[in-house]
Amino acid sequence: MNYSGNKNESKIAIIGAGMTGLSVGKELKRKGYKHVTIYEKKDSVGGKVGIFDHENISYDTGAVFFSSSFTELVDEVRRHNIDTVKVEKRFQIAESKGNFNLDEYRSQYYCGRKILISLLSFAKLSVLNSKIRLPGLNNVSPELTLPMNLFLEQNPSLKPMFIPLKSMLVGMGYGFYEETPAIYYLKLLYPYFKGSIKEKLSSIFNLGYSAETYYFQNGYQRFLCEYSKDLDVRFSSNIKKINRNGSDNKICISINESTEYFDCIIIATPLNDALNFLDCSELEIKQFQRVKCYNYYSVQFDADFMSPGETFFYSEINTIDKTGEILLATSYKQNGIITAYLHLPSGKDTSYIEHKLKRLVESKNGTFNKIIHVTPNNYFPHVDWEELNSFFNELESLQGKNATFFASSIMNVETVFECLRYGQYICRKYF
Ligand SMILES: Cc1cc2nc3c(=O)[nH]c(=O)nc-3n(C[C@H](O)[C@H](O)[C@H](O)COP(=O)(O)OP(=O)(O)OC[C@H]3O[C@@H](n4cnc5c(N)ncnc54)[C@H](O)[C@@H]3O)c2cc1C
Repeated sequence: MNYSGNKNESKIAIIGAGMTGLSVGKELKRKGYKHVTIYEKKDSVGGKVGIFDHENISYDTGAVFFSSSFTELVDEVRRHNIDTVKVEKRFQIAESKGNFNLDEYRSQYYCGRKILISLLSFAKLSVLNSKIRLPGLNNVSPELTLPMNLFLEQNPSLKPMFIPLKSMLVGMGYGFYEETPAIYYLKLLYPYFKGSIKEKLSSIFNLGYSAETYYFQNGYQRFLCEYSKDLDVRFSSNIKKINRNGSDNKICISINESTEYFDCIIIATPLNDALNFLDCSELEIKQFQRVKCYNYYSVQFDADFMSPGETFFYSEINTIDKTGEILLATSYKQNGIITAYLHLPSGKDTSYIEHKLKRLVESKNGTFNKIIHVTPNNYFPHVDWEELNSFFNELESLQGKNATFFASSIMNVETVFECLRYGQYICRKYF
């Protein structure tokens, strides 16, 4: 259902000022909507893009990296003239036999011919399945909803591309090949392979790492602050109640102690948060309760075992039964402080995290000093593979009902870039 409001008069509210809400706000403004307000419960934009300041340095507590292949994002970064740093060293994959960069690791298992076939198979698959290329997860071809390991068994030619990248994709918090639907990993990798034939050819030999990886000198959140400067964001506005059955077809929003009326709302918070404030229909409640997330911690700690610029993925532990291990550690600042990302079962506290980090550092003959900061996150909203199609098709059928649209990271894959793209997409499709 399309929204057919008057651009000069319609009052539109966006709930949440993470990347998704900001992207929607920007795109509606670009389309000429005059009365767009973004409500954010915290006192800053960003959501899962956050920073923690320590001894005059800002550390990312959520999103860190972006790729040069994320063209829409790179354009915005350039437009706002933000300082970025290129990741100089290649990612390392650590396993029991030692540490390898991606090329060394891959060449242990696959010859050039197999890698070329793998790349061409992926290119063909993404031509045949537009859902790999385009935002959204509705109407996904059933074979792409299978868990990644089953999907690769059915499509062995793709293994040379996806097996070496397993520790990267899993380490970044996207579940496990044994349970995460293949479509998520295919979508994550696709941007690295789009582009000119020349880029494609060069990526054959780098398995996706031809694109350069960057982080923000002063933290990712500073970019979102610049990006959102021309938007009407109301901070410290914790939405407690939204009533869509009021008089005059207006949507009534309770904001702190006051009430405001709107013609249309866009929910850009995680859907489980929306359960707390939206007057949900039975179908909405059923849908929102199906969403699953992982406990994904980012931890800043002081240790002496990595050189600045290094990033490790621990491949030997990327299986479901090993949940609770460290999956990714990166030292991207120049002062030796390291950020680790851990996918942990619920109920683990800081002493457990410290124990894990200490064990890791000592296994690499390093010295562990102390934990500086721990940020728990509800990461990677997704649904089980068996439910993927029914879930997203039903969610799509809710778009526009009661003048309500849904746009959070559940709609696509949990990355800043995909949130930006989905925000643009939903505005172009429905507004
Ligand atoms: C540890 C970690 C590492 C990551 N690393 C990367 C990376 O390297 N690269 C990358 O591209 N992506 C990365 N991501 C993913 C990326 O951060 C997310 O995909 C993206 O930021 C999600 O944006 P969003 O706007 O959909 O949701 P959110 O960021 O969750 O934003 C939702 C907003 O809604 C607000 N809100 C909630 N309830 C209410 C309410 N009742 N009233 C008002 N406001 C409300 C919240 O405060 C929040 O600001 C990482 C994420 C984490 C957690």
